[in-house]
Amino acid sequence: MALSGLDIFKKLPKTNCKDCGFPTCLAFAMQLAAGKVELEKCPHVSEEAKKDLAEASQPPVLKVEVGSGDQSFIVGEETVMFRHDRTFVNASAFAVTVKDDMDDRQIEETVKDINSISYERVGETLTINAVCIKNSSGDRSKFLDAVSKVSSLTGKPMIFVSGDAETLKEAAEKFKDRRPLIHAAKKDNIEVFEGINRDTGCPIVVRGETIDEVIEITEKLREAGVKNVVIDAGTRDLKSDFVNQVAIRAAAVKKQERRLGYPTIVFPDEMTDDLHKEALIASLFVAKYGAIIVLSGTDRQNIFPLLIYRQNIYTDPRRPMQVEEKVYEINNPDENSPILITTNFSLTYFIISGEVEASKVPSWLLVMNVEGQSVLTAWAAGKFVPELIAQFVKKSGITEKVKRKEIIIPGYVAQLQGELEDELGEGWKISVGPREAGEVPKFLKSYAAK
Ligand code: SF4
Repeated sequence: MALSGLDIFKKLPKTNCKDCGFPTCLAFAMQLAAGKVELEKCPHVSEEAKKDLAEASQPPVLKVEVGSGDQSFIVGEETVMFRHDRTFVNASAFAVTVKDDMDDRQIEETVKDINSISYERVGETLTINAVCIKNSSGDRSKFLDAVSKVSSLTGKPMIFVSGDAETLKEAAEKFKDRRPLIHAAKKDNIEVFEGINRDTGCPIVVRGETIDEVIEITEKLREAGVKNVVIDAGTRDLKSDFVNQVAIRAAAVKKQERRLGYPTIVFPDEMTDDLHKEALIASLFVAKYGAIIVLSGTDRQNIFPLLIYRQNIYTDPRRPMQVEEKVYEINNPDENSPILITTNFSLTYFIISGEVEASKVPSWLLVMNVEGQSVLTAWAAGKFVPELIAQFVKKSGITEKVKRKEIIIPGYVAQLQGELEDELGEGWKISVGPREAGEVPKFLKSYAAK
């Protein structure tokens, strides 16, 4: 069980020096117990106390790394129930299933398809994180062959699922360099999994039909020093799996129940045969609180919205997504190319720059720092107004790059046109662009043709 705030307080220097940013050692201890601050923030804590407090200073949901190399992923390290309380830390990882009773061609096609899924959005690359290989045949050599095949086709992390612990042991030993996640330790095979974790370093999944059963297993693994654990509390029934996810997170975060303080894995692919329902179930677990979500296939209709949804949930609400303030060159502009202006909200920038690029019209895009707000929000907040825009245009250096002193402003702030011309002064002309980004290519083509 985790230490309480008072237990932690007893081990702190009790000088109330405030160097940690808190008014008292007790206030710091309470925050540490809640997993909201790190022990390193107190520079005066003794080495002995550090050892004692090591666990208390870890996040309520422990970190687990799956895979090796640059495609490995991290789950866990979560500290809150709700994203708006602070932030969610490590995005859910999506895995797609490969069954060992598929033929070689099916396995190859599925893995190649998993590899090929990649979308660029707001400066991030969205992909499938892992391949979940299931021993559906029940045959050990078939499973090992399937794992061999998959590992030769992808560098993505692998999850091994089998009902036979000895099959998993052999696979983990053979592929330990890839650091696969091994599913699953149960009440009757804990010793085998302790051995797998000790000998290979591979993270393991604990599976219990009830939360009490999970606690029983994780307690034994903790006593044996096994820490990189993922919980499967799944009955494969949506209602009870959902309830279990919430209960596990609440126990870890609110009660500091270390025996449940691990990331979880969920299997929407085993809950329904309907692909649309599967996507809906998976989306539920992105928000609540599936760290690894296993899907049945690579259908783009389901995968794409899930990837976008995950990205939205796992942005940090404390930090606006913003890009650098500067003059962006798109399609190799020259001194006669049109100049557009927008704000530095990432989504705005990536949508507008994408449309300008698609127009193939060489253009300059002025991106103004308004603390990551969209055009209308920044205008309403007094940050995207003629006086400030004019100051930015003058210091941006655009005047040295162009002959044509004409700027296209977003259609939603057409009312700025006259005042901005006055602020910029003699020789400047302001044109009003379209309201919707999708109309930018057509607008730019006719603008450039004039
Ligand atoms: S820095 Fe350490 S000693 Fe100083 S107030 Fe914070 S917890 Fe107490």
